[in-house]
Amino acid sequence: MKIFKRIVNMIDDPSRSLQERTFILLTTIAEIAVLLVFIADIILREDIREIAVLGTVLITSPLISFICVRRHRTKLAGTIIVFCVVFIIMPVTFFFGGGMFGGAIIWYSFAYLYIGLLLTGVLRTIMIILLTVLAGVEYYVAYFHSNLIVPHTNRMFYLDSLVSVILVGIVIYIMVWFQNRLFLSENKRAEEQKKEIEALNASQNQFFSSMSHEIRTPINTIIGLNEMILKENISDEVAEDAANIQAASKMLLHLINDILDMSKFQSGQMKITPVPYHPGDMLSEIVGMLWIRAKEKKLEFHVSVAPDIPDELMGYEVRIKQILINVINNAIKYTKEGSVSLSIQCGERNGNELNIIYTVTDTGIGIKKESMPYLFTAFKRVDEEKNRHIEGTGLGLSIVKQFVDLMGGKITVNSVYTKGSTFIIEIPQNVISENHIGNIDLEKRHELGVRNVRTSKFEAPDAHVLVVDDNASNLLVVSKLLRETKVKIDTVSGGAEALNKTLNTAYNVIFMDHLMPEMDGIECHRKIRAQVGGMCRESKIVALTANAGGENRALYEAEGFDGYLVKPVSGEELEKELYRLLPNDLVYVTGNNEEILEETISWMHKNQRKKPVAITTESVADLPQELLDKHSIDVIPHIVCTTEGKFKDGIEIETDGLLNYMRDPSHKVTTLAPNVQEHETFFAKQLSIANNVIHISISSKLVQSGCPIATEAARAFDNVTVIDTLHLSSGQGLMVLEACRLAEKGLPPADITKRLNDLRSHIHTSFIVDNLDFLARAGQINKRIADITKSLMARPVLVLQNGKMGVGKIFFGSQKRSWKKYIDSVLRNSSKMDKSILFVTHVGLTKRDMDWIKEYIGSKAKFDRIYFQKASPAIAVNCGAGTFGLLWREDMNDHSSAQL
Ligand code: ADP
Repeated sequence: MKIFKRIVNMIDDPSRSLQERTFILLTTIAEIAVLLVFIADIILREDIREIAVLGTVLITSPLISFICVRRHRTKLAGTIIVFCVVFIIMPVTFFFGGGMFGGAIIWYSFAYLYIGLLLTGVLRTIMIILLTVLAGVEYYVAYFHSNLIVPHTNRMFYLDSLVSVILVGIVIYIMVWFQNRLFLSENKRAEEQKKEIEALNASQNQFFSSMSHEIRTPINTIIGLNEMILKENISDEVAEDAANIQAASKMLLHLINDILDMSKFQSGQMKITPVPYHPGDMLSEIVGMLWIRAKEKKLEFHVSVAPDIPDELMGYEVRIKQILINVINNAIKYTKEGSVSLSIQCGERNGNELNIIYTVTDTGIGIKKESMPYLFTAFKRVDEEKNRHIEGTGLGLSIVKQFVDLMGGKITVNSVYTKGSTFIIEIPQNVISENHIGNIDLEKRHELGVRNVRTSKFEAPDAHVLVVDDNASNLLVVSKLLRETKVKIDTVSGGAEALNKTLNTAYNVIFMDHLMPEMDGIECHRKIRAQVGGMCRESKIVALTANAGGENRALYEAEGFDGYLVKPVSGEELEKELYRLLPNDLVYVTGNNEEILEETISWMHKNQRKKPVAITTESVADLPQELLDKHSIDVIPHIVCTTEGKFKDGIEIETDGLLNYMRDPSHKVTTLAPNVQEHETFFAKQLSIANNVIHISISSKLVQSGCPIATEAARAFDNVTVIDTLHLSSGQGLMVLEACRLAEKGLPPADITKRLNDLRSHIHTSFIVDNLDFLARAGQINKRIADITKSLMARPVLVLQNGKMGVGKIFFGSQKRSWKKYIDSVLRNSSKMDKSILFVTHVGLTKRDMDWIKEYIGSKAKFDRIYFQKASPAIAVNCGAGTFGLLWREDMNDHSSAQL
């Protein structure tokens, strides 16, 4: 009885899985049924073999079930039992229990039910098929080979059949009843859980809304009283503190409002009511609020309102204002330079209902493609790494989206990462007045307001300017005229003094007189540009001269001056010129700068036309500086990690120094590719000077390759393509040079990519290394192999094949002999080599070694250019001193790198 109770408890235990509970029930019922059959068989004197099998099942089945249930392996137990039923019990009871004239056939319905309820997946299908096949076989045997079956007497048949019908019927009845009960109790439980969650949500929302209300009251007091303080006659310090309190309290209030809105949305209690309003007034209010914020960040702020917008609308004014403020605020927040614009237009009209389309565009940081899906998710701030200095909660856009949805509108976003975003919001509203809003110039309205209070146009206290003039009063005039801009001004009276200054001080702008004794302005300009170690080689230099006339402008332009001003110069002219030439981050606009901006923009358009494609690569591409400069190839450095710290390859660490450092075997050195964020910053910088970037990367199949990282980073942009060269070192460099050649020819990026992919298998990268110690130290090969090759005086050739590094030929004997053999083996391909360029890329070779190599190559084949290129530290780490490789490309007829 106790055991029976325990079993019932187990079946009712909701902490057990449904499958487990069903299993326990089914197996228990089946056990009882088999016990009854067993007893009946004894009474009816059934075949002894059948009785024996049933007896065995009676003992083993509970045993299996017990073990499996304890170990929570019900599925296994079910499978074993089903197997026994199908392959043992069913055939035995059939063949020894009278075949068609016994009870076995009736038990088939039970077997089907058992399998259907207990097994899952493929196993269930297999078992059902097997059971069916078995039934077929048994029927077949019973019909054609009835002699194989132990027959029943008529009386036995009736009795056996009756017992089976009753037992199977009861078993099926209990099973269905139990399933039904289970279903109902589970339903009830789910219902209860749902109610609990709803109650929890409601109390949480209640908590949020009451908390928000409670917090808002004191904040309003703080803001109100603080405003009073600001109106008092207070010291600057107190005023600054009060202004900070005001900003912080407003921010807090904003946050509380957002949380309150959010909780209302979550509890489904957000209600909005439409009111009649004048869009002109609403927009004026919004622009008035945000205009100053944009100006503070030195952003242009444009507003354009279509004149056909109705004068009066019926809509959710407060919420539309909230939406626009949120989106424009974000545009300002996430834009460092450039502009933010708002445009309002009429969309589709359906009777009285008119769609108003608000478009907010910025030239800010943009949004990564992969972040787009999360943009409207509450509390989710995308690109957090980059935005960590920008305040925000990730609630704004989520609320915006929910309001737009509630109003039956829609919001769409277009964004190009690093270039800017456009949010388009469309909201249907009812037209009240058919009068049009007409031409309203919100921009002018607010700009005038700003202009009235401020006098000076811009300030640049961190900018540094040098004025060179032999006339002392001219120096004084220029200094005074620029005083309001607060730039730091140094003055000198001649070329020699100017050069002294430019050696140590990085001036942003230099105003240079032309005619001066000893050294004139043009000569001084040339010397500043070429000054060894000079800080002003890239500075903006403006000719400030009494030489008027068009021909002079041409002269200064040809000389490379950045500007030209004629004396006597006005303060305004000087300011305009400074504004045009100073870097944006040094200039703070304090007044109307429309004119200056216009000129700046046209100047920028003239001077900063982007190139169609920038070719970039990694430091490990081992290209000579001369070629990098010639083709303006920007290089992202790999990182060399030593026990002393991390260093940028080729910038902070040089190969020779590193080799010295590595002489000590205890000095561990490894290399790393730059991370995704570093790549993203690198690409973003490239995209400010080019419309597309093709980044030529080291083989992705090498350890610590930068290729997968660059590919990952490129996903954030639409126009960055990463090429997996399947090479390294100058082999990768050869691909870079080909990319430059194609880009300079004006091929579109897709064509360049295709040509480069075709070229990969026609480039040959190999190195003969002195020994494999360094590779073993870097963990690229087994140390034992390195020791064996060394003891055999073997010099292996490392070859890049399909992007993987492998050992090719091995040369034995002295160093020179091996080198000769290596060079011979490479130059054996001489007929198919592109002879315009050959890289001899090396680690730690002496001048004598190089001369010898050059001479030996020269005696075998003639190349237009042989570049002896020191391998970058990142390569040296893996190869060690005494390594060099001949890296070459095949001549592909249609083009050659000769022009390079
Ligand atoms: P937050 O309070 O962080 O600004 P939002 O919900 O307003 O939250 O915006 C979510 C995220 O979307 C921001 O964290 C930001 O990364 C991104 N984002 C929103 N607007 C812009 C925009 N104009 N330019 C670039 N990123 C934006």
